[in-house]
Amino acid sequence: MVNNHHLYEELLKITTNENVLVNQPLKDYTYTRFGGQADYLVTPETYQEVQQIVKLANEHKIAFTLLGNGSNLIIKDGGIRGIVMNLSKLNKVETNDEVIIAQSGARIIDVSREALAEKLTGLEFACGIPGSVGGALFMNAGAYGGEVKDVLVSTKVVDRYGKLLELSAEDLDLSYRTSNIPDHGYIVLEATFSLKAGDQHEIKAMMDDLTFKRESKQPLEYPSCGSVFKRPPGYFAGKLIQDSGLQGKQIGGAQVSEKHAGFIVNRENCTAQEYIDLIRFVQKTVKEKYNVALEREVRIIGEDL
Ligand SMILES: Cc1cc2nc3c(=O)[nH]c(=O)nc-3n(C[C@H](O)[C@H](O)[C@H](O)COP(=O)(O)OP(=O)(O)OC[C@H]3O[C@@H](n4cnc5c(N)ncnc54)[C@H](O)[C@@H]3O)c2cc1C
Repeated sequence: MVNNHHLYEELLKITTNENVLVNQPLKDYTYTRFGGQADYLVTPETYQEVQQIVKLANEHKIAFTLLGNGSNLIIKDGGIRGIVMNLSKLNKVETNDEVIIAQSGARIIDVSREALAEKLTGLEFACGIPGSVGGALFMNAGAYGGEVKDVLVSTKVVDRYGKLLELSAEDLDLSYRTSNIPDHGYIVLEATFSLKAGDQHEIKAMMDDLTFKRESKQPLEYPSCGSVFKRPPGYFAGKLIQDSGLQGKQIGGAQVSEKHAGFIVNRENCTAQEYIDLIRFVQKTVKEKYNVALEREVRIIGEDL
């Protein structure tokens, strides 16, 4: 719990009071549906507001955390100190010929739907990835053979000093589920994707097929953060976990999914601690049985209770 009236007043000089929430529970902002509170949850509406908030956090030496759509995050039960920024109000998506410019808070699913509506091909892979555009760049999100790297041309970001920069896709060093965005502390504001004219029926058929595959294989009926682990070279994480006999293994309300062993689901009132304990148990078991170190894809942030 915080009571820093001065900081609150300063935030209200930047954005309206409905955009500044104090001691805000974060569980409704994540796909796992657990996690503690943010001291300040701030939702800027313009690029200038983002820049001012970064500068304010620097000036006051306040910790600063960025939340996308919360689909690749575990927020610990003790919550997050300082300012948490949510970019969901920066969500415009615009098409010019074969180029789509999307603000970082737009959902990448909605960008792929815009591509479909505009008869553009290249973003079909993203039709079931529940992240924001910013989160998708951060992780170089991908599925079924496609990834952000294939279609991203350039991006606008704010650096850790509050300066606006325009970068090319190459500047981000995108590779399998990583980028250099965390190394630089960039905040992605906008992304430009280059697509190709396509046949709308074919684009739709591909998206329907990928959605069918996803829905039949993934435990979408329970909250989760998606695939917990990256694909280890030469193996599949889900198969290793399954072969280790861990499917259905439960710690508190967290369970290794019975439908897809690469997922850990929030079966019932799970805490972040239970979820993290289960991740560690899975890593330890797979290491002992197969001598493979499973690396987490999901990020863990915040403080213990
Ligand atoms: C059911 C399910 C299925 C999934 N399937 C896939 C899949 O097929 N392929 C795949 O790649 N991923 C998948 N994911 C994981 C997730 O959707 C992606 O990693 C996505 O890119 C995360 O985006 P986000 O906006 O939710 O980011 P968050 O989870 O909110 O944040 C993740 C990280 O990105 C950073 N970040 C967020 N926005 C910005 C920004 N604007 N600028 C800079 N940094 C930012 C955050 O600070 C954080 O460190 C799945 C998740 C779920 C729950």
